Amino acid sequence: MPNSLYVSSPVNALVQGILREDKTLAQILTHGDFGLGTFNDLDGEMVLVDGIFYQLKSDGSVDKATLSGCSPYACVTHFESNASISLHGLSNYGDLQNTISKHMLSQNLIYAIRVEGVFSNIHARSVPKQHCYRSLVDVAGDQVEFNFESIAGQLVGYWTPDFMGSVTVPGFHLHFLSEDKLHGGHLLGCTIESGKLWLQSIDQLTLDLPHSTEYLEAELIKDTFSALNKAEH
Ligand SMILES: [Zn+2]
Repeated sequence: MPNSLYVSSPVNALVQGILREDKTLAQILTHGDFGLGTFNDLDGEMVLVDGIFYQLKSDGSVDKATLSGCSPYACVTHFESNASISLHGLSNYGDLQNTISKHMLSQNLIYAIRVEGVFSNIHARSVPKQHCYRSLVDVAGDQVEFNFESIAGQLVGYWTPDFMGSVTVPGFHLHFLSEDKLHGGHLLGCTIESGKLWLQSIDQLTLDLPHSTEYLEAELIKDTFSALNKAEH
């Protein structure tokens, strides 16, 4: 389906510690060539670029992910954007967010976001592989943060409205992948020397609901919004 965001499983399941689903990357790839997410047991951050999945590991290194691997949460889309916006001298992530927001038609749509550029600094994180049934907030305590200086690469991700907060990570969610595909992580901060921004507004959502026993039996009643603000931002 063109111009639709595909979500492989609602994020509230991940927030409550269901860190494993049986959705393969090959299945997810049928819904888009661009996106982000994570892997079973939170074994690193995921970025999908030009139809290739990369696994951003907790030491900041990157592997290509195998299509037979599974994900408990992934957001993908068929990325299409013709007009780019030039970026110069953005001193922090807040400046980038403000610039992106200015080009959004409305805060009530979904946006796929791609930034290519040269970054004086990238502050990112990833998470080491977990044992199941730890809440995302507990897992966040294990996250490993790192900085990359003077690095070329791209940011890949989404902006989704707060009201979708039990389905996707609300607000901005971006992952970094270096141009040489050797470094990456979940974006926490950045300084951009120069770059280009592409935005795609999206007005449809395709949500898969898992059928794992853990999911079917879970009571998904917690306040995911505050938990995600702690764990993801
Ligand atoms: Zn992330």
